[in-house]
Amino acid sequence: MPEPGRPTPGAPVEILGAGPAGLSAALTAAHAGREVSIFERRAECGSRFHGDLQGLENWTTPEDVLDELASMGIAPTFDHVAIRDGVFFGPDGRERRLRSDRPAFYLVRRGVGAGTLDQALKSQALAAGVRIRFGEASGIRSEGGIHTPGPERCDALDVGYVFETDMADGVFAVLSDRLAPKGYAYLLVCRGWGTVASCLFDDYANAREYRERARMFFEKHAGLRMRGERMFGGTGNMRTAPIARRGAVLYAGEAAGLQDALWGFGMRFALVSGHMAARALIEKTPRDYERSLRDRFAGFLRTSVVNRFIYERMGDSGYAWILRRIARASDARDWLRRFYAPSLWKSLCFPVARSAVEAGRRRAEAAVRAAHAAV
Ligand SMILES: Cc1cc2nc3c(=O)[nH]c(=O)nc-3n(C[C@H](O)[C@H](O)[C@H](O)COP(=O)(O)OP(=O)(O)OC[C@H]3O[C@@H](n4cnc5c(N)ncnc54)[C@H](O)[C@@H]3O)c2cc1C
Repeated sequence: MPEPGRPTPGAPVEILGAGPAGLSAALTAAHAGREVSIFERRAECGSRFHGDLQGLENWTTPEDVLDELASMGIAPTFDHVAIRDGVFFGPDGRERRLRSDRPAFYLVRRGVGAGTLDQALKSQALAAGVRIRFGEASGIRSEGGIHTPGPERCDALDVGYVFETDMADGVFAVLSDRLAPKGYAYLLVCRGWGTVASCLFDDYANAREYRERARMFFEKHAGLRMRGERMFGGTGNMRTAPIARRGAVLYAGEAAGLQDALWGFGMRFALVSGHMAARALIEKTPRDYERSLRDRFAGFLRTSVVNRFIYERMGDSGYAWILRRIARASDARDWLRRFYAPSLWKSLCFPVARSAVEAGRRRAEAAVRAAHAAV
């Protein structure tokens, strides 16, 4: 008797959502010779984003993320720049330069434009024979499929500008409640294109004010120069426990709750979990997927929840302390890996941290939605 959710050999694979998780799942299934359909409710891949630059993190494993993607059959055909150093500012404006030998992350662009991660993945999927059914919001049949529709709720808010610039490439960030309560503000510049934003985890009603403070801060401290700027806003969903499946349907990406609760990194988790879900559907049982998802991500996610719980209580003096610690480390990437790595004391703190973070996020939802609609 086949296990529920396990397709018959060679059965078509159906996926909901053509973001990084869905497209990665589709590529894996198509490379395995399966017929694949993705149902995407919007008219284009990457429509959730605005050409904003994002960081594809490279610190949660010793292996380079691009090598990991290659092992999954994803070629780096998207524009990307390796980042080995950045300038971070504390709440008092003090500058610290963070460096690593190997890239701490890769800057990529998100959206519907040429060279974005979204469009590169789409092109690879189409070349592999995947059918993307744009404008269709559902379609997965009851015997199983992969669900990757992105965030279910919203509990963090990013507000800023995307722009053209004559600035040199660079990565700048500031940890300060005056610019981004319980979050961070950032300026990313890559090949004449930039993003400046405030990523808030509190006081959402004043989002515009924080956006402008972030802009003015980087004008003063990093020489920010914008041309043809456009405002953008986006929300994220931090869950404290991943969901691998509901009945016969496997979950991946942000829909599965695979999002760093501290700073909102989720692209790599989306790409990897999409691949794992497709493999589970093709080769193994859905129960294997639950276990492999837990083995790969649960420790990082629990640690990120504890990190968020502590971060929210630190305030400006705590942010300054974190920056001092990273700056003192000989390699920022190694420091970040240790910071995100599971540990006994963080596991012990997890139950308390989880209930506090969940309660906070539940309270935030309506305010985030209202603020997002207003920016
Ligand atoms: C402003 C902003 C900045 C970010 N910065 C970073 C960063 O620097 N680094 C990082 O790692 N992460 C970052 N993230 C998070 C990262 O973008 C997400 O983790 C990642 O996009 C999740 O991929 P996904 O495929 O799970 O979901 P998504 O990218 O949301 O894709 C889901 C797709 O499903 C479609 N869909 C939704 N509902 C349905 C439906 N019912 N039927 C059919 N289709 C549907 C959507 O239209 C969408 O195309 C950021 C997020 C935001 C909002």
